[in-house]
Amino acid sequence: MHGWVGHNVYGAELERVLLDSAAIDRRVRELGDSISRDYAGRELLAVGILKGALIFLADLVRRLTVPVAIDFVAVGSYGAGTESSGAVRILKDLEQDIAGRHVLLVEDIVDTGLTLNYLLEIFRARAPASLRVCVLLDKPERRRVPVPIDYCGFVIPDEFVVGYGLDYNERYRHLSDIVVLRREVYRGNSV
Ligand code: 5GP
Repeated sequence: MHGWVGHNVYGAELERVLLDSAAIDRRVRELGDSISRDYAGRELLAVGILKGALIFLADLVRRLTVPVAIDFVAVGSYGAGTESSGAVRILKDLEQDIAGRHVLLVEDIVDTGLTLNYLLEIFRARAPASLRVCVLLDKPERRRVPVPIDYCGFVIPDEFVVGYGLDYNERYRHLSDIVVLRREVYRGNSV
């Protein structure tokens, strides 16, 4: 067990470190290299899905060697627990027109796939020159709709994780590691 857990005020809710900041950093560099190679000679629009992808996007774009613009979209899925209800809606749309642009959708985690599936449909209809998906974490066991993932950081087991942008009721986004939340914390609290 990492030493910080005992010192953290939220420590009792956190079970173990799944991915530490060094491992995340290494993987983000690799993803940045692949994306830079694939988009050589083109200009990219990285679209972060708020709020979870904020920290991942911030680190990722600093690893890119191609010109990149940044925009954000915010989605909600009704409810504040650990389960997506299935109904997704846009809370904040893009500020930029994506027609004819090379768009890379950047997401923290794919779980059921409903969020990305919904956004991909909407964005495709806006006629971008290309549309790809980059996710830090993939939980394939829980997939309900297939999602094409072009760049994936880590495949993880079906556990609820927080840190590095990911929250539980808006807490823990600031942690540098990705940490498993104890099941007792959210059991019976799903929506
Ligand atoms: P999906 O629509 O693929 O079911 O869910 C995607 C969203 O669910 C993510 O953007 C994230 O907000 C939330 N989510 C899914 N699994 C986790 C998890 O393990 N931890 C956290 N913090 N959020 C999760």
